[in-house]
Amino acid sequence: MQILGETIIGQRSVRGDAGEVFALAAATGEKLQPAFGASSLADVNTACELAEDAFDAYRQLPDERRALFLEAIAQGLLDLGDTLIERVHQESGLPKPRLEGERMRTVNQLKLFASLVRDGRWHGAVIDNALPDRTPLPRADLRLRRIGIGPVAVFGASNFPLAFSVAGGDTASALAAGCPVIVKAHPAHLGTSELVGRVIQKAAYDTNMPAGVFSMVIDKDISVGQALVSHPLISAVGFTGSRRGGLALVAAAQARPVPIPVYAEMSSINPVFLLPAALSARADSIAKGFVESLVMGAGQFCTNPGILLALESDHLEAFVAAAAHALSDKLPTTMLTPNIHGAYCNGLNSLHSASGVELVAEGKEAESAYQARPAFFRTDSATFLANPGLEEENFGPSALLIVCKDADDLRNVATKFAGQLTVTLHVDEGDHTIAQALMPTLERKAGRILFNDFPTGVEVSYAMVHGGPFPATSDSRSTSVGATAIDRFLRPVCYQSVPDSLLPPALQQGNPLDTWRLVDGHLTKG
Ligand code: NAP
Repeated sequence: MQILGETIIGQRSVRGDAGEVFALAAATGEKLQPAFGASSLADVNTACELAEDAFDAYRQLPDERRALFLEAIAQGLLDLGDTLIERVHQESGLPKPRLEGERMRTVNQLKLFASLVRDGRWHGAVIDNALPDRTPLPRADLRLRRIGIGPVAVFGASNFPLAFSVAGGDTASALAAGCPVIVKAHPAHLGTSELVGRVIQKAAYDTNMPAGVFSMVIDKDISVGQALVSHPLISAVGFTGSRRGGLALVAAAQARPVPIPVYAEMSSINPVFLLPAALSARADSIAKGFVESLVMGAGQFCTNPGILLALESDHLEAFVAAAAHALSDKLPTTMLTPNIHGAYCNGLNSLHSASGVELVAEGKEAESAYQARPAFFRTDSATFLANPGLEEENFGPSALLIVCKDADDLRNVATKFAGQLTVTLHVDEGDHTIAQALMPTLERKAGRILFNDFPTGVEVSYAMVHGGPFPATSDSRSTSVGATAIDRFLRPVCYQSVPDSLLPPALQQGNPLDTWRLVDGHLTKG
């Protein structure tokens, strides 16, 4: 499959006429061929109108048809073979083995949503049978099911060019929910986006989906993204990126005559608590695990362990020495974009010059432009609490250790944290009292709590939560990874006293879909 520099508007390939844009090679910053034609606002409008035209037909398809569509996308990604991996590698600088793994994750994510759609529980069918003889008032027949919210705009993420981008979790969950999707491609991986977009377009054709079920636009500046979020035919937004970008989209969505939800996953520093008994038992192995997690993918993970907390002790110093040793051997790695590299360097400069913050160790020096040098700093709890800037995410392989005086000090710092995607505790038996006291605070801070592990690596499964209170996300009630991500793009409809033949199959008396339903308060397939 060739990259032509085109966008995708339903079943048409369109060369945008709003100017030329290029993807850049992550390693050198050089322009990659071909030039892309940026979308015009007319293209955005056409994509939205097509999506609206497709919505009713698409959402009412049998579950099996939507599942086959998702599986055809998954197969198409595999069929792209090395062509895809080569291009993503050029554009992102991410190592090929990591990208192979990310592709499988994307494929499995699509398959998970296919099985979820087939299984039918996504309908959320609930039936309260009529109680005509109830006194003092009879009850009408009430039936609830969920339907897609409408066309969804998806903003691909820079740091997961496959799993959180054009065919990533937001797209898969929205398509599973019965919502047409319009992707605003991330400018850092335009060629990857076109390849993946064409796979979705072909899958839609091969499985006979309505034309407007998928489109993809690209931008020269933020006007295309803004127009998409502001378009009256868009019903929800999925986004992964910076806090500034996410908040700009939330503001645009709220300023519409009809406001819409924006599910933005933004910034998190993912605190890791190193409790005393765990440090006394295995400071060395925790240090090695921490450094591996810190430098993975040049630290460009939303779940990167950016903050460590521990009580002052000799065992902590043993941990610090082991971490410093492990980090000093780590090689610099190319970052995703020159801008992300620039932001990381600025963040490092702020930490180097912050009063009360000390550099513990650095990895090997950068050998070429756009490489990140890993770094590990330390401070004390009083300095941390007095400087809110130290809580800002520094996207890349840098972390800050906060040394606390005692368990109360540790808990006090924990209560001051903003919302997080994850918090992690390293504990042994002897730490359970401190851990138990922390848990109520941590539950309020984060979407996922891990024990004796590191937060990088997010399983795509039924129980996963990749979300959390602001600023981790703009809406803490949902997740952008895992099966329940579909809930973001569904809304409930109640049918009162509707004749059986006019009800959707999920709610008909004979349960023709053979799906689980809550009937008069009991879960049954009957
Ligand atoms: P970004 O700047 O937020 O951009 C993400 C997407 O949103 C891009 O497609 C961008 O388009 C669009 N966008 C941004 N601001 C917009 C606005 N005001 N109106 C309309 N569209 C807008 O994120 P990024 O480029 O991926 O990375 C920049 C920084 O984000 C990183 O340095 C890092 O701090 C953070 N980041 C965090 C995570 C995380 O998971 N926590 C992940 C990735 C990045 P344009 O670029 O064309 O404007």
